[in-house]
Amino acid sequence: MVDNGVSDSLFKMPTIKFTKLFINGHFVDSISGKTFETIDPRTGEVIVKISEGTKEDIDAAVAAAREAFDTGPWPRMTGVERAKIMVKWAELIEENGEELAALDTIEAGLLYQLTKFGIPAAADMLRYYAGAADKIHGEVLKSSGQFHAYTLMEPIGVVGHIIPWNVPLMMFFTKVAPSIAAGCTMVLKPAEQTPLSALFAGVPDGVLNVVPGFGPTAGAAISSHMEIDKVSFTGSVETGREVMHAAASSNLKAVSLELGGKSPLIIFDDADLDKAADLAFFGMEKYVLLVLEGIYDELEKKLVEKAKAWVVGDPFDPKTNQGPQADKNQFDKILSYIEHGKKEGATLLTGGKSIGTKGYFIEPTIFSHVKEDMRITQDEIFGPVMTLMKFKTIEEAIKRANNTRYGLAAGIVTKNIDTANTMSRSIRAGIVWINCYLILESDIPFGGYKISGFGGKDLGLNALHKYLQLKSVVTPIYNSPW
Ligand code: ADP
Repeated sequence: MVDNGVSDSLFKMPTIKFTKLFINGHFVDSISGKTFETIDPRTGEVIVKISEGTKEDIDAAVAAAREAFDTGPWPRMTGVERAKIMVKWAELIEENGEELAALDTIEAGLLYQLTKFGIPAAADMLRYYAGAADKIHGEVLKSSGQFHAYTLMEPIGVVGHIIPWNVPLMMFFTKVAPSIAAGCTMVLKPAEQTPLSALFAGVPDGVLNVVPGFGPTAGAAISSHMEIDKVSFTGSVETGREVMHAAASSNLKAVSLELGGKSPLIIFDDADLDKAADLAFFGMEKYVLLVLEGIYDELEKKLVEKAKAWVVGDPFDPKTNQGPQADKNQFDKILSYIEHGKKEGATLLTGGKSIGTKGYFIEPTIFSHVKEDMRITQDEIFGPVMTLMKFKTIEEAIKRANNTRYGLAAGIVTKNIDTANTMSRSIRAGIVWINCYLILESDIPFGGYKISGFGGKDLGLNALHKYLQLKSVVTPIYNSPW
């Protein structure tokens, strides 16, 4: 082990084949010729230089997508034909799975065990929406009898997808699979921290265009573009607001926002505490932990023990529990939240520091006795920082769980079915996991309440409707027998 926790023997560098923009079926340099560096968060060193797309490149990508939508085969194919291509694509993903998974691990610091697990999940997402591609239809309406009226379900057009760095490949297919099944064409901008897996694609020319670049340039060019019909964004609340402003002041394109969260994980006193501790660590980056008074001290002890045994290191090592944070910005942001927690008077039980001098590793950190109005309780940290709070009654748990601007998700750990039912109906969040956490599957809709987003859920059959629009057709019936 070197001092950043990365052992040399595990330092696997996947072959990197694609570093350019993907426009109209070809890998091309950016028009400006500019590039940016993508960084390995294990070491802080450059992995490779990527072509940097700016407004002109977005214009070229949109022109290709527009042409493919307005005159190309993709929206005009039958659903079965589109499905065949999607299924083929799913196979290619599985064939290249190890390489794709390694790209996400090396760029985002995600555990290789998780990114590898994400490969069949991504392929299945394509298969799931492929199965829906030939079942998109409107309906015949009753109307007054004097008219024949029906609806058509049509693809919305050219979609701009803007995605973040947290789970790059899964996010890519969460967006691309339903929109491509719907018959849309698209321009996707991956996050500047994690462009590599998105460049590993392949469908008919112009249908899918990928332009890596930065938010204020390439991202903003998508949200303000006059020829894009819909922008589907996943990222922070602040950027979500900007995307919506830009959409409103350009061509009023449709907007879907999937934004941050600060989700409660609520542990009742009948819970299996080992399981509760496992779930707490599994979703550590995502929530505030609310714990019933009677088990608070015991759970606190278990969590600290677990933190001490928690292995932070090379995400390729199967023994590792936690890899590096995705980039320097994120690393600095998390450490500054930890300082806030200390200053605001929360009790630091364990952790609280970075590890080593190289790369972006942070100790699993647990704050106890946090207050509702502390920044570490209210803000999304997106790092290994757990915050524990005590409650006495179910009513108090509900109140605390809802005392957040966010409404992305919640977790409940209890063996009592009544408690589970009451909690799942009382919490204002888009998904409630009972005795599990962070379970995401193709047919389970995901998306927030309140400032965590709106405009249609990701995943599930609902997600298709983010990329479809309804048209009504009405024609008179002369000499109707009815
Ligand atoms: P995160 O905190 O998850 O990185 P961001 O909202 O900053 O969230 O980034 C999510 C995505 O939005 C990234 O692809 C980023 O490049 C892009 N982005 C950032 N700023 C803008 C902007 N002003 N307009 C459009 N996209 C942006």
